[in-house]
Amino acid sequence: MGLRGKILIVEDEEDIITLLRYNLEAKGYEVFCAHNHEEARLIIKEDLPDLIILDWMLPQISGIKLCQEWRANKKTKNIPIIMLTARSEEKEKILGLTVGADDYMVKPFSILELLARINALLRRANPQIINDRLIAGNIELDRENHRVIRENKELHLGPKEYDLLEYLMSKPGRVRSREQLLDNIWGKDIFVNERTVDVHIGRLRKALNKGFAKDPIRTVRGVGYAFDEKYK
Ligand code: CA
Repeated sequence: MGLRGKILIVEDEEDIITLLRYNLEAKGYEVFCAHNHEEARLIIKEDLPDLIILDWMLPQISGIKLCQEWRANKKTKNIPIIMLTARSEEKEKILGLTVGADDYMVKPFSILELLARINALLRRANPQIINDRLIAGNIELDRENHRVIRENKELHLGPKEYDLLEYLMSKPGRVRSREQLLDNIWGKDIFVNERTVDVHIGRLRKALNKGFAKDPIRTVRGVGYAFDEKYK
């Protein structure tokens, strides 16, 4: 469901894509793959990833070029980037780090090592993604036990309401469109429409706010919903 964060893989070797996708999805990440710079740009335009795994050698435009481009852009400059290089390119890895990659791995790499570095980078960039507990104001969401507590009172949320709250709370302030919520909570294949999101947000609010004055869910008219970053 991608609740642990969204990772973009930019790589033209199908074997490596398959290996990475399998292992990252098994860890609960939402994975998007691009084979070249055009696909990568399209994906980034649609929704910013939380981390990018970027191959050095790509057709047409190199990973280095893309990395520089993303570092120069206000929207993408803080997204952690891990660069993949072939052994023969290892000398140039220093260049990779100077153009703004946060880390690099030399192929063939250990998948466990890569997962550990991803975890470290995500934790640094956005602790809320990795944490087992999301806490905002008097609301605490315990991911391990799927429990939500507000001011010492346990709330009983339906599974979709829980997923919605977790997704919104993992990035306070980030506005999620109904379409994004559908894709991430219900999956792309299931026949539901955007009205479904409103219904479940309504149920979430009811369960979350009963007996409390403040509503932490913000409606952004014409767009979607966010967990209010100012909620304390
Ligand atoms: Ca390549």
